[in-house]
Amino acid sequence: MFFDTHCHIHMPQFANDQAEVLERMKSAQVTKAVVVATEEAEIAPVLTLARENDGLYAAFAVSPQDEALPDLTEEEIVLRVQDPKMVAVGETGLDYHYCHEPLDWQRNRFATHIRAANLANKPLIIHSREAACDTLDILKANGAQNCGFVLHCFCGDWDFAKKALDLGGYLSFSGIVTFRSALDIQEVARKAPDDRIFIETDSPYLAPVPLRGRRNEPSFVPHVAQFLAQLRGKNIEDIAALTMQNANRFFRI
Ligand SMILES: [Zn+2]
Repeated sequence: MFFDTHCHIHMPQFANDQAEVLERMKSAQVTKAVVVATEEAEIAPVLTLARENDGLYAAFAVSPQDEALPDLTEEEIVLRVQDPKMVAVGETGLDYHYCHEPLDWQRNRFATHIRAANLANKPLIIHSREAACDTLDILKANGAQNCGFVLHCFCGDWDFAKKALDLGGYLSFSGIVTFRSALDIQEVARKAPDDRIFIETDSPYLAPVPLRGRRNEPSFVPHVAQFLAQLRGKNIEDIAALTMQNANRFFRI
């Protein structure tokens, strides 16, 4: 059984066939998934999905990629993640690929989310792109070690991974790890300890090889597990079991 720790199956890309997507997820033995809302308007649909489907959970934070979204205070974030089906604050973090300086709004928003996660006593889902140093600095400065964090859709090198692991962080691998050019990420996926790794789709984006280019969905996450199994010299059942255990522990499910 597999745990897709990060997906967006509430998005318009699934409007016409969400029920079939959920059916295919079951058939593929993907028994759990966290559905991530990246703005306030998405909280209701994501919570509805989580309440109506066993094995689905929700997370919320204001997207680090959209400056136009209104910022929330720590207290406002805490209120919005009170529901027992809300298992994390995220995704939050830094994106220096899509967004360009001045980015104080992004760093301030990130720090506020970390403090909120500690107040709410929920772990953090971190988005970090081309911003490894600042991500680590802000995580440390705001006490992310206390609530715990995962670097979702990990796309850095071993140096970044090692520093995050040393802070107690987890690493989540998406379809990107299966791409031929992703040698740095594959090195991390080989070296990371058994008890610190997750798998995810980040669907509808980033479908894994051999489905690259298609709309992604949770039923594709076993392809990520299969790839990690090859890299780590294990069988897919072992990867499924250990990533399931890790995610259950992290999200306190
Ligand atoms: Zn995402």
